Amino acid sequence: MALLQWSRAGALLLVLGGACFGQSLDEARRIQANVLGVDSHNDTMQRVLIEKVDLGQRLADGMIDLPRLQEGGIHVPFFALWVPTYYPGAEAVRRTLQLRDAAQGVFDKYPDRIELATSARDIERIVGQKKIAAVLTIEGGHQIDDDLAVLRMYRRMGILSMTLTHFRSNHWADSSTGKAEHNGLTDFGKQVVQEMNRIGMIVDISHVSDKTFYDVLEVSTKPVIASHSSCFVYSDIPRNMKDDMFRALAKNGGVVGVNFGSSFLSQKDADELKKLISQRNAIEPNLVGAELDAFAAKEHAESGEVHAKVGNATVEDAANCIDHIAKVAGIDHVGIGSDFDGIPSVPAGLENVSKMPALTAALLKRGYTESDIRKIMGENTLRVIRAVVGY
Ligand SMILES: [Zn+2]
Repeated sequence: MALLQWSRAGALLLVLGGACFGQSLDEARRIQANVLGVDSHNDTMQRVLIEKVDLGQRLADGMIDLPRLQEGGIHVPFFALWVPTYYPGAEAVRRTLQLRDAAQGVFDKYPDRIELATSARDIERIVGQKKIAAVLTIEGGHQIDDDLAVLRMYRRMGILSMTLTHFRSNHWADSSTGKAEHNGLTDFGKQVVQEMNRIGMIVDISHVSDKTFYDVLEVSTKPVIASHSSCFVYSDIPRNMKDDMFRALAKNGGVVGVNFGSSFLSQKDADELKKLISQRNAIEPNLVGAELDAFAAKEHAESGEVHAKVGNATVEDAANCIDHIAKVAGIDHVGIGSDFDGIPSVPAGLENVSKMPALTAALLKRGYTESDIRKIMGENTLRVIRAVVGY
């Protein structure tokens, strides 16, 4: 009898618990429909250039397209014009132009649904018109071919930020996953940061070595971002940030966009990324022009990003990392940097951008208020854009 009563009470609690969760998901959907959602990193433009996917359609695969961005409440995706580090010198500049052209193709095809944004003011106007405000970024300082004129021309083409390195160190900055060649930033690297401050281009410290990160903070007069990095305390990959780095970034006024890659969020998948990075760093095709592009297309087709799987992390792990950064650095210094379409494994419950309300529900469960969530989902990164561009 006692057992029966207990089990009835248990069942009642289960039902109530389910109802609560349903309510919090409804509440999360309402909040997510009203935030100005910013995601400071995705790799979707590779798919547009190489696979010719049509972002106007709801795609059966991948993680981002225009319908799913709207559904997930991410109105301001940062599309990375990423060029693999095996593109040497001017070849990397040529590849960047191809990606910029591919992005323009999307803007020209869907002028009523997506528009290039190069300032906070642009973003507010475009999102106010219920369109996607696309921000373009460069991912890897090698893409300027050691030339500040190239950097300035990228900015004039509407590119708003640059990640200083990718997986390998370049001629002027050490990467977290490359050989330490310069003990951080060289003198020219410092000039790059100063020039980016001057021309209103956001410095992105994701991918750089810890020493490069601290060198950047010493030189930069503007807030910087880590567009797609997560918590070292939860996964010890070199791409993640330690707590002292979060505190230093807070002092600079910057923001960390939390990376959703399962390897970034869960120690169980850390080795997967470490292995992938060492494989990628060993690639040296020694080709140029169309032959090099064909090589890159083949590598893209075979990569984990195109055939992403669900990893060991869950949407709760993404919320844990956000919560950790908010506690260590403060609520004003954490944002979203999914890395969607650039990660080989995604968290369960957060498989693509349309699932963002599940993350908001996980934050509500942790006691975050609607105003906290608005900051995390976009206001923090928008603040940095305004501070760097000036308007
Ligand atoms: Zn990256």
